[in-house]
Amino acid sequence: MDACPAGALSSQGNDKIGHKIEINPYLCQGVGTCATACPTEAIHYALPTPQETQKFIERTLANYHQQGGENAIILICSSRHESYNAMALNALPENVIPVVVEELPSVGIDTWFAALVNGATQVLFAASRHMPETIQTVLNSEVGMAQQLLENLGLARETIDILYLESLREGLPTLVEKDLELRIGDVEGSKRERLFHSLDVLTAKQGVTDTIQPLPTTAPYGTVTCDTDKCTLCMGCVAVCPTKALYNKGDRPALDFVEQDCVQCGMCEKRAPNLHCLSLNKSTGTKNLEPKSLRFMKRKLRSV
Ligand code: SF4
Ligand code: SF4
Repeated sequence: MDACPAGALSSQGNDKIGHKIEINPYLCQGVGTCATACPTEAIHYALPTPQETQKFIERTLANYHQQGGENAIILICSSRHESYNAMALNALPENVIPVVVEELPSVGIDTWFAALVNGATQVLFAASRHMPETIQTVLNSEVGMAQQLLENLGLARETIDILYLESLREGLPTLVEKDLELRIGDVEGSKRERLFHSLDVLTAKQGVTDTIQPLPTTAPYGTVTCDTDKCTLCMGCVAVCPTKALYNKGDRPALDFVEQDCVQCGMCEKRAPNLHCLSLNKSTGTKNLEPKSLRFMKRKLRSV
């Protein structure tokens, strides 16, 4: 709800009947910060859809490379600031490809990483320090999250960055022009599937072997640990898990978990506070597993 600069989001309901988020259409200005901040795509842009924008970037990169272009830097620009965009493009080198969207936050972390596995050497946002504070906060937070993931992968933090147009007066930003030579084509699936697929490709490319990586406490990615001595398989955590990251197939007593689906909301931990049977871990990856299958891995937390 903090992501909306117009105050159009509100939480309805209570702990007994459950909560739901409502969007007030009279207040909503379509900025899309909620869509960027939402880790599950429960709120997403209707037109264009995130997939359409992502596919447009993938096609643009493929055409650029087919025509012999090198070191493609994607500059995501807002159609609201055309004169600023033109000023930025005049100052930047020719390998910077503008992608104009109505609102900067309408494309999220999944699209940024999908660009990197399709030959973009860097993804920049043409932002202004005059943008509403909430938009800057959300963009900074999401880019900060992306930069932590990049650092964990051994890539420069500036590979995904915000370019404040005002700063061009002082000189060019740090440009990343190291081609990872990845051209994987369409990245399909849900927001999290697309993000984790790109991360898996980058993990393999970078040869990252330490497959558990720390993340900030605010990260909507991570694992849960079950204390099997305390777990009674009551299924209380399964009942409240909103993403079905915790689940039970129903054919035998067991507690299963899909790391990729866990948004670290903490509802499972709260469900059984006296038992201390579950705890959250802000990290990505699972030790001793092949990087490619890490985040899609289904794990058994407890069974009898
Ligand atoms: S981890 Fe806790 S809440 Fe989940 S099934 Fe086991 S005892 Fe129940
Ligand atoms: S923190 Fe717990 S309840 Fe929330 S998504 Fe993860 S497993 Fe489900």
